[in-house]
Amino acid sequence: MKAKIDALKRKGLTIGFVPTMGALHEGHLSLMRRAGRETDIVVVSIFVNPMQFGPKEDYKRYPRPVQQDLRLCRSVGVDIVFSPSSKEIYPQASDTLTNAFVDVHKLTETMCGKSRPGHFRGVLTVVNKLFNIVEPDIAYFGQKDYQQALVIKQMISDLNMNVQIKVMPIIRERDGLAMSSRNKYLTPAERQEATCLYRAFLKATGLIRSNRHPVNSVKIIRAMKGIINSVSHSRIDYIVVVDPQTLKPVKTITYRQVLIALAVYIGKTRLIDNFLICR
Ligand code: AMP
Repeated sequence: MKAKIDALKRKGLTIGFVPTMGALHEGHLSLMRRAGRETDIVVVSIFVNPMQFGPKEDYKRYPRPVQQDLRLCRSVGVDIVFSPSSKEIYPQASDTLTNAFVDVHKLTETMCGKSRPGHFRGVLTVVNKLFNIVEPDIAYFGQKDYQQALVIKQMISDLNMNVQIKVMPIIRERDGLAMSSRNKYLTPAERQEATCLYRAFLKATGLIRSNRHPVNSVKIIRAMKGIINSVSHSRIDYIVVVDPQTLKPVKTITYRQVLIALAVYIGKTRLIDNFLICR
């Protein structure tokens, strides 16, 4: 991979990179198409990174439809699919053992960082390794994983890395559910119930926009909880209203943009979603 990248760079070609864990959907494809418009060579990595999964999480059962993924990549004109084994990425005895790692503090003390200890260390370490291998000019991430994109930007800035990060909008199903590889886990009944996330965001947006005065975040969160808890197989991990740059809680929603983000279990499946809201 490194030799190939070297040769492409020597020709003066720019590299656009889309890191993924596979089980590709329209969300992933939107990043690849954008990369195709903005750079000469599009590299997609497909790597289910063991280091970012907790011991009780779904690493083993994460979907890996390799042939279908390759077909989808080809359909949007991806030039190179890089799909290393975990042994290649983590050559030590254990899948996830690594002597050097990258981590970001503060921004990971909340939301998914709080619920999934070690998750962002795993993400940042593998993204760092992938960046060193692929040497992208531009790397594309989805707003779906808002905190991830923010934490990666922080790492890029703190470590003076030579890559531009672009964050693309969330691609949703017709009924508003954010596309995710994990949606495949949902039973038909759960899939129906999962629309409560989007409905909760619509309710929040409505409340914020219809109010002529600043709105208390507690009120918004309470209304969202009401919608989500009315669904029988839901369990809320977190719902937060935060500053989009610092992820610090915002108590009162005024005219500044806020991020509302949540993680909710529908049955055993943990779903995340977020909205950037301006009044
Ligand atoms: P994943 O394979 O889930 O690790 O996701 C790979 C990249 O695709 C990440 O940057 C995600 O944020 C992005 N992504 C995942 N789902 C969506 C979506 N529904 N819309 C836009 N981007 C997405």
